[in-house]
Amino acid sequence: MRKIALLTSGGDAPGMNACIRSIVLTSLRFGLEVYGYRHGYNGLLQQEYLTLRAKKVENIIQRGGTILHSARCHEFKSDEAAKIAAKNLDTLGIEALLVIGGDGSFRGAAHLAKHWEGQVIGLPGTIDNDIYGTDATIGYFTAIETALDSIDKVRDTADAFERLFLVEVMGRQAGFIALSAAVASASDQILVPELVKNTDDELENILAHIEAVKKRKGASSYIVVITENLWPGGVTHLSEILSKKTNIECRPVILGHVQRGGSPVSQDRLLATKLGAYAVEAALAGENRVMVVERNQKVATAPIELAWQQQKPLDPYLVKIQQEFFDLLNRP
Ligand code: ADP
Repeated sequence: MRKIALLTSGGDAPGMNACIRSIVLTSLRFGLEVYGYRHGYNGLLQQEYLTLRAKKVENIIQRGGTILHSARCHEFKSDEAAKIAAKNLDTLGIEALLVIGGDGSFRGAAHLAKHWEGQVIGLPGTIDNDIYGTDATIGYFTAIETALDSIDKVRDTADAFERLFLVEVMGRQAGFIALSAAVASASDQILVPELVKNTDDELENILAHIEAVKKRKGASSYIVVITENLWPGGVTHLSEILSKKTNIECRPVILGHVQRGGSPVSQDRLLATKLGAYAVEAALAGENRVMVVERNQKVATAPIELAWQQQKPLDPYLVKIQQEFFDLLNRP
């Protein structure tokens, strides 16, 4: 193998730059030429790329975002687009393409593989942590820290008044950030898609808990951490319902895109560095249609389609503790 390429795709995540750096340095160590496509799959279609040398990845390990710019590319789902991408890769003589992104980006890689002879390898980069088969994804740890920092600050102001706060965190259809940030901030209530089956029942549950906490502690703050897209009508609607039903002022706090930004924390830099290096080694070993993962501190590869065929469960022990604490504090 002489030439390898990479791109970052989908929602960006802190640690993607650390991953790019690791891929470039490992490739150079093995004497490979490395190309970086810009703007996700768009760059592949437009032949928009740059040669990545060691100098290009100096001083980026601590930077959020991605020097290659991430993007969505809806047209890439067509067969024609994948054929154009395959031709462009062949023109440059690329033998393996490494894709840093979430499960959507991995689907894109598998789609390309149907039309291209080269190898495709996915690297899980998403703050949502919703990729089956790996303990964590690049960006997840930083997103928890960002959410946690905000929730701690909300609590400082919440404690000054009797107020309810609904803090909405990212996660698309997964509650990893919400669960971790809620447990680490000792929030009062957590609403995540994996655990909320019926929102009417859940509303009764929250109201009863607020009442129990009020009886026990008197006037105090109450913080609910909730995943985006979960409540019908959104968190603003839920906060109106709670204000009305409890007669306590309820404020929604939507953290939004700040969770994607910031300098990556050490765990994300280390994970990104390990997975980046291992992806290059896997490419050299001839692996194809796989993603690189880390389980119990060991790097490995797994079939790429697991990313969308299997749903990753929340940590059952963390869920159990959270529910036991919740029940304990729910007693009159
Ligand atoms: P993420 O990688 O963060 O899950 P998306 O779901 O938005 O983000 O996917 C990122 C990009 O991956 C899309 O804009 C598209 O270019 C590509 N992609 C997603 N799904 C497919 C698919 N089924 N076939 C081909 N390409 C896809």
